[in-house]
Amino acid sequence: MEAVETKYEVVIGLEVHAQMKTKTKIFCGSTTEFGQEHNSQVCPVCLGYPGVLPVLNKEVVRMAVLTGLALNCEIAEYSKFDRKQYFYPDLPKNYQISQYDMPICKDGWLQIGEKKIRINRIHMEEDAGKLIHAGAAGLAGSSYSLVDYNRTGIPLMEIVSEPDISSAEEARAYMEALREIVRYLGVCDGNLEEGSLRCDANISIRPVGQKEYGTRAEVKNMNSFKALQHAIEYEINRQVDIIEAGGKVIQETRLWNDEKGITSSMRSKEEAHDYRYFPEPDLVPMKVDKEWVEQIKQTMPELPVAKRNRYITELGLSEYDAGVLVDSIEMAIFFDEVVTSGSNAKAASNWLMGDITAYLKENKVKLTDTNLTAKNFMEMLDLIAKGAISKNIAKTILVQLIEKGGTAQDIVKEQGLSMISDDSTIRDIVVKVVADNPKEVEKFKAGKKQVLGFFVGQVMKETKGRAKPDVVNKMLVEELNK
Ligand code: ADP
Ligand code: MG
Repeated sequence: MEAVETKYEVVIGLEVHAQMKTKTKIFCGSTTEFGQEHNSQVCPVCLGYPGVLPVLNKEVVRMAVLTGLALNCEIAEYSKFDRKQYFYPDLPKNYQISQYDMPICKDGWLQIGEKKIRINRIHMEEDAGKLIHAGAAGLAGSSYSLVDYNRTGIPLMEIVSEPDISSAEEARAYMEALREIVRYLGVCDGNLEEGSLRCDANISIRPVGQKEYGTRAEVKNMNSFKALQHAIEYEINRQVDIIEAGGKVIQETRLWNDEKGITSSMRSKEEAHDYRYFPEPDLVPMKVDKEWVEQIKQTMPELPVAKRNRYITELGLSEYDAGVLVDSIEMAIFFDEVVTSGSNAKAASNWLMGDITAYLKENKVKLTDTNLTAKNFMEMLDLIAKGAISKNIAKTILVQLIEKGGTAQDIVKEQGLSMISDDSTIRDIVVKVVADNPKEVEKFKAGKKQVLGFFVGQVMKETKGRAKPDVVNKMLVEELNK
């Protein structure tokens, strides 16, 4: 019998919702700030009071256009909003203003490895409120639910891929790339755990060689990349088992349960006509003129893939180092600033990847929340390059720059950390160290050359690391051979 894994082809399309980082909501002036007291960031418009009128936030359109350009989409000159009707306690208006047949962006793609994953559309819509299922047992067993309307009306972008993804790993890679892009564009903070970036995965399988797609299930509720990958793997196996047993996959929405590691049926799939879409009568159709799109294009930052390539090919960083730096926007911005002012890229990257990252991890702070600036960091690198301070001394200076700021030069002066430039001072210490350790001198003379390391260590201890290693070495060899 043919192996099950090679018998079926996996077909996946992702619908990604990204909360946009605007200051105010999509159709009113209520703030979008996260973590505020429940139901405090609301107004008659986002609460859906009768008679109120939505006013489109221009920043939402700008962000959608910028994202569309980054994802190689066509930007629609004419676009409109539509009403999607449904009843649910988190939706006070009983309809969501969304875009149906004329989305702002169409027909783009995102490169994942060798493959272009096509993007069908990006549309703008408003988020619903958040239901909090109270009581001990969570959703199934809770005795009552609470609703927080602070999220109602937060702008969303829905980015819909074509069913071009063919494995769980590829879906994850696509999602990771998308997250990186929206973060670099500054349009979404990309936090899966907090739900500012959410993903519904449409999954189907078909026998290899079959043209028509199989019936899909839509899986929701994955709050991490790991969950996304696991949920898809689980769902593929579930569908293979059904078909192998002679059954049929039914089209439905399924919920991923991260604790149990399974998906379970939530509701049968709704169709577009169930929502009774019609053009939103309270908003005029939208015209986005080409000039504005051109202006937005001019503000496009360097995207992660291009940045990573530049770090590797132009700055000579390893693939790994380039990847780590680009993964953290703060690091990459900081690094770019240091490098464009002429500092050595390799050295800067080593410090960032090494001591700086270690400090940030240990103290659980973000680079941008410390007192380290590109300027004072560069000065420190210069002092090392000139030989004015040793790398070891620099490590202690770095901690002070991070914690208190100031300049490396001042710290060196105040604390007497500069290298001993006077050779006779070093010579005196070398002579003393040799005289104090007759046994080790014996060993050296007997041919055990490794003890040189011991002597170097002693001199460094005496000078608190302020002696130049090459000078110390040379003098030690001279004195030991006397
Ligand atoms: P709906 O709006 O009903 O969810 P769409 O046609 O807009 O349906 O598709 C939603 C997503 O499902 C898209 O990402 C699309 O690529 C994907 N998709 C459509 N058909 C299939 C299929 N047979 N298998 C896997 N994914 C699919
Ligand atoms: Mg859908």
